Amino acid sequence: MSNYSTQTKLIHNTYSVDETTNAVSVPIQQASTFHQNDFTKFGRYDYARSGNPTREALESTIAQLEGGSHGYAFASGMAAVSTTLMMFSKGDHLIVSEDVYGGTYRFVTEVLSRYGIEHTFVDLTKLDQLKKSFQPNTKAVYIETPSNPLLKVTDVSSVSELAHEHHALSIIDNTFLTPVLQQPLSLGVDIVIHSATKFLAGHSDVVAGLVVVNNETLADRIGFLQNSCGAILAPHDSWLVMRGMKTLHARLRQSVESTETIAAYLNQHPLIKNVYYPGLPSNPYYDVQKKQAVNGGAVVSFELVNGEATEAFVQHLQLPVFAVSLGAVESILSYPRTMSHGSMPDQECDARGITKGLLRLSVGLESCDELIADFEQALASTTLSHV
Ligand SMILES: *Cc1c(COP(=O)(O)O)cnc(C)c1O
Repeated sequence: MSNYSTQTKLIHNTYSVDETTNAVSVPIQQASTFHQNDFTKFGRYDYARSGNPTREALESTIAQLEGGSHGYAFASGMAAVSTTLMMFSKGDHLIVSEDVYGGTYRFVTEVLSRYGIEHTFVDLTKLDQLKKSFQPNTKAVYIETPSNPLLKVTDVSSVSELAHEHHALSIIDNTFLTPVLQQPLSLGVDIVIHSATKFLAGHSDVVAGLVVVNNETLADRIGFLQNSCGAILAPHDSWLVMRGMKTLHARLRQSVESTETIAAYLNQHPLIKNVYYPGLPSNPYYDVQKKQAVNGGAVVSFELVNGEATEAFVQHLQLPVFAVSLGAVESILSYPRTMSHGSMPDQECDARGITKGLLRLSVGLESCDELIADFEQALASTTLSHV
């Protein structure tokens, strides 16, 4: 199977046809323990925290898709992040992307710090800043690209190379692009993390996390921590992620095409101050994104003139749901200032460009023409009332 494209591998992989029944959907093994036939020699499965066939199908599939050797499924993206970071010890130092996901920021600053694991936040899009941030005890560089919510792009292979020169691991959160659009292990990354809640599962109906590695040593460490911490993904939720992933390629093709059209539309609209999308040729990260990923993905952020106009615009919009999260069949509009970055002080938000006019749109599967018509009418009403 390994010679097929990612598109085909999403449909035809080791688990496409069940060995015991030829079912074309992976069976949900809703069992917590497994009978042992032999008094001294235990079988493939014993207790479901350590291994469950449905979860294993998902773990093996994501490993195949990312080009890795081992995959691990967790109860949420944050369970995947936190379990992975538990591999570090007191006195270790981590370099973390400045624009990291809010939950990761909270875990690093409020939990790992209590265990004596130090961190420095660095703008990883600036390699000279990264070079200056290594310490003798730096054990990992944690990347997230494109970043949230400003879609800044980190050069993954350069950062990984620098990490390795300093005997540190490189870890990436690949949630925004998925292996269909970016395969970080092939760019030199050691550990890939996903919130499978987003594009991978894709239907806003399950919370899940995944980790993929490409060598036995790291596999042993993550496997040990997965079993020790115990934040595993349930069989039914594993099945939901696998079911969602079958349409990942088709969903992304449609959503990215619409995102490119919407980004270009917003970019020429007089009421929009800024558009942040690495798939726009005018975007400063366009070239590095093109080098390491298939396209700019299906998330675009944009800035209206002020907070009042933004509120009016959101009130007038009909189609996108206004919510936290991304990567689903329905378009999801979110307001970073009070949602993902609500706990960040106002000054810090302003300094980072997370202004009162900033919105983030994850583009779903609606008709692109109808999405743009919706934006058009909402912007027209905004012009009349608030600018
Ligand atoms: C949502 C998200 C997470 C956390 O995942 P959960 O499944 O919500 O725990 C981590 N990283 C990124 C980039 C995310 O968007």
